[in-house]
Amino acid sequence: MSRPEYDIIVVGGGHAGSEAAAAAARMGARTLLITMSLEAIGRMSCNPAIGGIGKGQIAREIDALGGLMGLATDESGLQFRMLNRSKGPAVWSPRAQCDRFMYAAAVRRMLEAEPNLFMRSDMAVDLLTEGDRVAGVVTQLGVEIRSKAIILTSGTFMNGQIHIGDKSYGGGRMGEGASKGLTGALHRLGFESGRLKTGTPPRLDGRTIDYVRLEEQKGDLEPSPFSYMTDRLPEKQLSCWITFTDPSVHDILRTGFDRSPMFVGRIQGTGPRYCPSIEDKIDRFADKDRHQIFLEPEGWNTHEVYVNGFSTSLPEEVQMAAIRRVPGLEEVHMLRPGYAIEYDYFPPYQLRYSLETKHVRGLFFAGQINGTTGYEEAGAQGLIAGANAASYVQEREQLVLKRSEAYIGVLIDDLVAKGTDEPYRMFTSRAEHRMMLRQDNADERLTEIGHSAGLVSEERLRRMERRRDARQQLLDAVRITSITPEEVNPYLQTLESAPVKQTDRIAKVALRPEVSLGELLRSTGTQHLIPEVEGLERVEEMVEIDLKYEGYVDRERGLIEKMEQLESMPLPDGLDYHAIHNITMEAREKLGRIRPENLGQASRISGVSPSDVSVLMVMVKSGRMPRLADAG
Ligand SMILES: Cc1cc2nc3c(=O)[nH]c(=O)nc-3n(C[C@H](O)[C@H](O)[C@H](O)COP(=O)(O)OP(=O)(O)OC[C@H]3O[C@@H](n4cnc5c(N)ncnc54)[C@H](O)[C@@H]3O)c2cc1C
Repeated sequence: MSRPEYDIIVVGGGHAGSEAAAAAARMGARTLLITMSLEAIGRMSCNPAIGGIGKGQIAREIDALGGLMGLATDESGLQFRMLNRSKGPAVWSPRAQCDRFMYAAAVRRMLEAEPNLFMRSDMAVDLLTEGDRVAGVVTQLGVEIRSKAIILTSGTFMNGQIHIGDKSYGGGRMGEGASKGLTGALHRLGFESGRLKTGTPPRLDGRTIDYVRLEEQKGDLEPSPFSYMTDRLPEKQLSCWITFTDPSVHDILRTGFDRSPMFVGRIQGTGPRYCPSIEDKIDRFADKDRHQIFLEPEGWNTHEVYVNGFSTSLPEEVQMAAIRRVPGLEEVHMLRPGYAIEYDYFPPYQLRYSLETKHVRGLFFAGQINGTTGYEEAGAQGLIAGANAASYVQEREQLVLKRSEAYIGVLIDDLVAKGTDEPYRMFTSRAEHRMMLRQDNADERLTEIGHSAGLVSEERLRRMERRRDARQQLLDAVRITSITPEEVNPYLQTLESAPVKQTDRIAKVALRPEVSLGELLRSTGTQHLIPEVEGLERVEEMVEIDLKYEGYVDRERGLIEKMEQLESMPLPDGLDYHAIHNITMEAREKLGRIRPENLGQASRISGVSPSDVSVLMVMVKSGRMPRLADAG
């Protein structure tokens, strides 16, 4: 048998594949990235936007772990906004509209800078195995390439089928072919697969939009970067624009319903519930007479505009007629129609927490192949799969993040513990510890972990430490420094906040919800307390969050400790759940199928009740657990 040429092969150069390849190579694994087209590396299939609610936190976590996404976003961003500012900091979520071409170019450049990373333009069509281990891939050119581990990140490409009205053809994304062969190979290895669906809106020629009729949405005046390493963001930003549909638009769209691939049942796959197509919105919310549409630029040097909120797979002429009834779009030229795409995915309960498959050692899955949707969800899984494939090859400890440590931990735990039968995207509501998992503290939560795993550079680690020290320094300073009524009352008056009667600590005044710590320090002449740090982060903003939310954070810490007790109780692989008679039938069936790694995971499986968990806990503690006959 020939020696493996590579430690790791990553199949697919999308968001999961790029992060996976970069992570594996950075950890010292000789890595080959095989992707159908090198020109499409880092391509954004849908809107060129990174972040948003729940997703912005993930993008910052990827960055804190040394990933590519934050850096590529800062380099290519053309509008930056912090969403949810009017709500609590737990749900503040950064979002950036990017230049599609610059983003992909930045990802490609960063990959090419990795000395251990090699690329090949080709399609993987089959897998080689030896015993229970993966051993390489076969490509469509008939070439066998051997490796010790493989990461599959095929996105929407596996048996992809594109639909526009009554037209349908094979493709992985508009203008790119479908990936064939791998689904069959995986079925032969014992994997189950399913079909999912997603969709995208039409793209318009910006020169034909009447912007005078639209509402302008500008970027933030003081934009926040995605990467903790960014010192400067582009000064200039582009605006997005808002318009609305009306009943006449809906009437036109309804004329195409009898040719809608979704409504006539030609699309079998389940679509994203929270991101419905415009025809779905009209059908499901028939009483709403208008829907918001955001017109978002796709780049600095193109007129192409993305029509956010108008995803559709209705016939092209119906799309065109309807869109021309939208205010501001009466004369619009459509560059390409919206479409829907169906593709194969592999229900993620077939994975371990490391994202290695349970069936085949050394085989990892990441991204849309696991039933997720979104660049951030894909990138996060890619990074973890890349790190763990490298650890597998190097026989090192696996990198598994807890739900209390990161949104990435929540994402992977949800996938592995519960599986998904519809496209999974992140929301802040999925994270029970969201008060701890904020976008501002991702580096403090994760950079040391990434450094120990070999993902994070010394420079990044030092930068995090300096920021963390600066934060603590300011926190200590405002807790001991006092301000007099004469110093603070003029500022409080501007806020119509009650004046203070005696000298008080800055930290105490800052607890008032209407008070901004930064403004308080500046208006009382105490801004010298703010330490200087590199980058664009505002230390005073982070300290304000620390002060105002201290009580909540302490309470959450208590809950986390309780949950960690369950996580530390392992459930053996060969446990025979069907022989445990005092748990429910549903629990037996689900536990037997998902085979959780510990009691914490078992407790999060829907259908497993607290009393089922108590029974399992007694068994784990007593060490008396029924084993499957072949479990040894
Ligand atoms: C039409 C459409 C609409 C979408 N709408 C949304 C949306 O509204 N919201 C949202 O959050 N996300 C949306 N997405 C999803 C988003 O694009 C994906 O979640 C994200 O790109 C997934 O990243 P990935 O790395 O898993 O896969 P992808 O970005 O799809 O990349 C897969 C890569 O793998 C390569 N590849 C596949 N098979 C092989 C093979 N056998 N051999 C070699 N290379 C292979 C492909 O060439 C491609 O480069 C949409 C995607 C599409 C196509």
